[in-house]
Amino acid sequence: MPLELFIDDVVQLRKGHPCGSDRWRVIRLGADIGLRCLGCDRKILLSRRELEKRLKRFVSRGTSPEGIPVAQEA
Ligand SMILES: [Zn+2]
Repeated sequence: MPLELFIDDVVQLRKGHPCGSDRWRVIRLGADIGLRCLGCDRKILLSRRELEKRLKRFVSRGTSPEGIPVAQEA
């Protein structure tokens, strides 16, 4: 099942950014996923497949395309 991603999701990746943060906000969806580091505001693009490999967990969920808030994961 493909990974569900929404704008404003906050994800934790397996490998931290050199700035010390390992949390990223989803800012762009598409063939490549745009992420912004919560530590230093740097933006990166990852392919969906690359992100799936690096994703450790969701920290919080954004809003679904239908505008329905998605319940926060435990
Ligand atoms: Zn950073």
